[in-house]
Amino acid sequence: MKLHCQIEVINRLHSTLNIRSSGKYLKSTLALIKEPKSEAEYSLLLFSTVNKTGTKYRVKSVKQMFIKFINEGKATIRFEEPPHDLCIKCEHIQLKCFVKLLRSCIAGDTKSINLAKLSSVAVTHKESPTKLVIRDRSAFPNKGFPRTLEFLTISGLNLCNFRRDILLLKQLVVLDLSNNVIEHIPPEFGDMPNLAELNLANNKLGVKGVIDWRWLLRLQVKNKLKLLELSGNELKYLPKSIWKLQSLVTLKVDNNLLEHLPNTIGRMNNLRYLTIALNKLTSLPCSMLQLRLDYIDVSDNKLNDRDTEQSKMVKRNPWEMYVNSLVDIAARVVVKQKITYAPNTIPWTLVEYLDDANSCVCGEPVMNKEHYSFKEYQLKYYCHVVVSDENRKGTVSFLCYYCSPKCM
Ligand SMILES: [Zn+2]
Repeated sequence: MKLHCQIEVINRLHSTLNIRSSGKYLKSTLALIKEPKSEAEYSLLLFSTVNKTGTKYRVKSVKQMFIKFINEGKATIRFEEPPHDLCIKCEHIQLKCFVKLLRSCIAGDTKSINLAKLSSVAVTHKESPTKLVIRDRSAFPNKGFPRTLEFLTISGLNLCNFRRDILLLKQLVVLDLSNNVIEHIPPEFGDMPNLAELNLANNKLGVKGVIDWRWLLRLQVKNKLKLLELSGNELKYLPKSIWKLQSLVTLKVDNNLLEHLPNTIGRMNNLRYLTIALNKLTSLPCSMLQLRLDYIDVSDNKLNDRDTEQSKMVKRNPWEMYVNSLVDIAARVVVKQKITYAPNTIPWTLVEYLDDANSCVCGEPVMNKEHYSFKEYQLKYYCHVVVSDENRKGTVSFLCYYCSPKCM
């Protein structure tokens, strides 16, 4: 039996410590249940607007019941352990029935207990689900997602919009939204406090050309995200700001329309697994030589198609390399020393400028884009496992920048 009522819970321990009770009656539900494993054991479950997980009181530990004002719809149940008094306000006939049933339970008068009246919420409510897999629209929970979810999969439903109720799942660690038609991720998504793995494979993020990547710049996601799967999204580019995902270990961007990777990718210090197969890449940024990758898949690109004509160094006066603007010199120091910067601390034009920094083959930051050439490198010297198209020399074309003539 469930009693919909208003309840104030008084902790008697507080009154002995001279802590006053709030005097607030909260909208609550009190359910009388039979313990599934025991023949004659009953419990009371209390839920309220602030206590959604529920508190269980054993009927055995009811010490006293105060029912002097039951005709006015008021009663108090005192428990031995925990030392709580439940002060109940309710419609008086319902309250009387409830108290009568409770008395029968206390007395162990099994004949007069109508078992059908006992609630069976205990077993179902005790589980707080942490995992939910939805592969069918009918599988969406009627009452919304349980807030306790840590793993959520919503896959293969042709979902057009990112469901905003996902933003409420503060415990979420793994989110799989693969095989939908999502075009946009809201910036607030970057505030998910515990998200470590995000699978957005086979959606439509790149279909409109311009992509809103602002969620990547939020503090929580920058510090927490370890796996990002963006394969099959018709992406034409990756944002320069992707390097700000400083915890990222695995990045998968296979089967897109990428023609180049951002130079900043070399700044992703924790990146270990990178898959960029099935794109239109003709070269890789030489900053990638600074990464310590365990695994890279570059197959099905155009990384070996570069003709020798293009590979020639663009001839410039080498002295131009030594003479830099003050902004260039300052920017090189900021990048080299890994000084944090963001649009809220410096003008966004400077943020763009710093995000644009290239990396010399020696690892030094380079701000100018004038001095570059395409060079062939053997990836196997830079990465433990390399998956690539077979070519004669086993090399891959890199777009290289230079900090000084010595590095050329
Ligand atoms: Zn250099």
